[in-house]
Amino acid sequence: MELHFAPMFTRRRLIVILILLALFLLAAGYLALTFLRQVRGPAGRRFFTWWQGNEATRAALVTVQREACPGAPFILPADGFIGLLYADPRGPYSASSPHQGIDIFSNSEPGVTPVYAAADGYVTREPSWVSSLIQRLPDDPLQPGRQIWLYYTHMASRDGESFIAAAFPPGTSELFVEQGTLLGYTGDYNGNSPRTVWTHLHFSIVRDDGSGHYTNELEFANTLDPSPYLGMEVHYERAGELSCKQ
Ligand SMILES: [Zn+2]
Repeated sequence: MELHFAPMFTRRRLIVILILLALFLLAAGYLALTFLRQVRGPAGRRFFTWWQGNEATRAALVTVQREACPGAPFILPADGFIGLLYADPRGPYSASSPHQGIDIFSNSEPGVTPVYAAADGYVTREPSWVSSLIQRLPDDPLQPGRQIWLYYTHMASRDGESFIAAAFPPGTSELFVEQGTLLGYTGDYNGNSPRTVWTHLHFSIVRDDGSGHYTNELEFANTLDPSPYLGMEVHYERAGELSCKQ
């Protein structure tokens, strides 16, 4: 009996092993292709140049858009390299949990590059916020009648020295500012996370929960593509020159 069953068992085990191996190779191949596509695509090449470059080569990647692009309601809130795009799946983000806003990297030290209000609206800084402001726009300029929120973060040093302008101390609530008002300066604060982030502004457009409060910005589904608001294509799948659309 044993002699009869032993080869069957071995063959079955071999088939299972082969199937697992095939699945593993498929998964590894998929990950490798995704990685190559991300690294070798235009956004990946630009990021590599920024990472490797000196101040001069980095300057060529910087977008400066102090006035709103033609037909667009918002200004770009900081000068810099728009290195992580909206819906970006690259690390530390993923395809299932992509980037909820844009990251504008500064060609400067922390605390130097100004951050401006992208639109008119009411600024709030929760009492515990070290590096973040949120701005309420009662009327979405592209979809009148709905309220949206603009979120600006990483405006502090690595060790938590805030770079937010003195006009917005912790606990600030509903302070009206006009588009272009100085909000603070970019930094590399990342909470208590040990992960290093380069000096940048994270900027996102956040949906209202329908009762006058902002939703959780960390959920991609709660955010909007900033492209039509900036008049600039910043969606990961479509971004090109990172300047005003013609
Ligand atoms: Zn970000």
